[in-house]
Amino acid sequence: MRVERAVRGVLGGVDDLVELAVPRTCGGCGAPRVRWCGRCEAALHDAPALICTTAPAGVPVWTLGRYDGARRRAVLQLKERGRGDLAVPLGRGLAHALLRLRGWGEFGLSSGPLVLVPAPTTAWAARRRGGDVVTAVCRAAARTAAPVQAMTVSPVLRSVGAAESVGLGAAARARNVRGTVRVRALPGPGTVVLVDDVVTTGATLAESVAVLARRGVTVAAAITLAAA
Ligand SMILES: [Zn+2]
Repeated sequence: MRVERAVRGVLGGVDDLVELAVPRTCGGCGAPRVRWCGRCEAALHDAPALICTTAPAGVPVWTLGRYDGARRRAVLQLKERGRGDLAVPLGRGLAHALLRLRGWGEFGLSSGPLVLVPAPTTAWAARRRGGDVVTAVCRAAARTAAPVQAMTVSPVLRSVGAAESVGLGAAARARNVRGTVRVRALPGPGTVVLVDDVVTTGATLAESVAVLARRGVTVAAAITLAAA
């Protein structure tokens, strides 16, 4: 009994050390002493907006909002700064948006599960980030929605060999992703929703919808955490 208490004490001490080593700031606005603040939480809960992408995806493309402010900072901190904890608030925002869309009838009358299919990442990008961040956000969304809506996550898409597309125009981006998305397995049963972090031209979403269609999978809609 005493040993157990001692072990717990040591572990508690380690936690405290980690707290000291990692400065706690809000992942959305940089406010001190908190990892995520109420204002940034509220900023992620706007109603989703329908957007028009340069490369038509063939399905409605929704977004949680513009790629600025708390949304932009949180996505960057999650992807580039190792703030894996931010998958949770971003996942809550995603769950909230998907539940609204369901309420609006966007996914038809089916009351079955929503199947979240993360947009493809390359294996090296996922390794560099300690795992695929969009999949982590989808899993957090599924946990949030669980009491009211079944959501499953099917990370079945993989990107192979697409070069970095930053700085490319719409046509060049479309060429860049063509033929680079692979379907590793079929998603689970339910209404398939494609999920990505930031949409720019929509080329990756369009390619993903197309390769899934070729495998007989109908995508109901796409949704992104932000629109650049
Ligand atoms: Zn904040």
